[in-house]
Amino acid sequence: MDIRSDFHTHTNLSSCAPADTTVQALLDGLCAGPDGLRVLGISNHLWDRDVPGASAWYKPQDVAHVLSVREQLKDADTHGARVIVGAEVEFSSDLRVAITEEHAALFDYLLITANHVHMKDFIIPASVTDPYEVADIIVTRFKAAAKVRLPVRCGIAHPFYPMSFGRDEMTILGSISDQTYGECFELAVENGKSIEIHSSAFGAHLPLNEAGFCDEYVRMLRIARECGCTFHIGSDVHRPAPERGIRLRGLVKYLGLAEYDLTDF
Ligand SMILES: [Zn+2]
Ligand SMILES: [Zn+2]
Repeated sequence: MDIRSDFHTHTNLSSCAPADTTVQALLDGLCAGPDGLRVLGISNHLWDRDVPGASAWYKPQDVAHVLSVREQLKDADTHGARVIVGAEVEFSSDLRVAITEEHAALFDYLLITANHVHMKDFIIPASVTDPYEVADIIVTRFKAAAKVRLPVRCGIAHPFYPMSFGRDEMTILGSISDQTYGECFELAVENGKSIEIHSSAFGAHLPLNEAGFCDEYVRMLRIARECGCTFHIGSDVHRPAPERGIRLRGLVKYLGLAEYDLTDF
């Protein structure tokens, strides 16, 4: 099984990536050499200007901006990798996906991000600090994002990762029961959403098991598998950092996933 793929990567078209993360720098860093990626998905942050409500940060990161990577790819050396163009599309506080159906069809795939809870007073109220309340919001948002129907294959980016709540991360994840995860992942299966195997599973601030992964993320991903989800690797790199993808391939093996468990975007 060749799992040398990564569908969650950013270039400097994302405002949060360094200027020197050009497409070519990403390709050179992730795809070159005998262990390089065979499939690379580029997924810059997106809010479609035809969907009202973008924050000031999102406004410049519209469909034309994110799709301009296709032009950059024309002259790029892909080192033999298949490169596909997606986006990490936001999901609003009132549970709308931030892209129109018409524009979604312009992409090879999309990652819907349901838990950018670090965006205070935009995705969640800044007043929400209670870990159990954060968990409820993340679960509600996951279920709503799982039900989104778009005319392109979609995954869920960094599922259940409570961004910016690191101190309470274990409490938040621990409060989500197996049954609740099951309800969430059944919706993902029904609506064809791929589940991301993301670098949050080995956050430096988390307790890690002997294999180097956080057991709370392992529990979540195992339930997703029991429910029949398919998965994709998403390192979420904002600069060429191949070591993250290599660690995620280790997690795929640790979870015992087979080729048929992986999403074919
Ligand atoms: Zn994200
Ligand atoms: Zn990302």
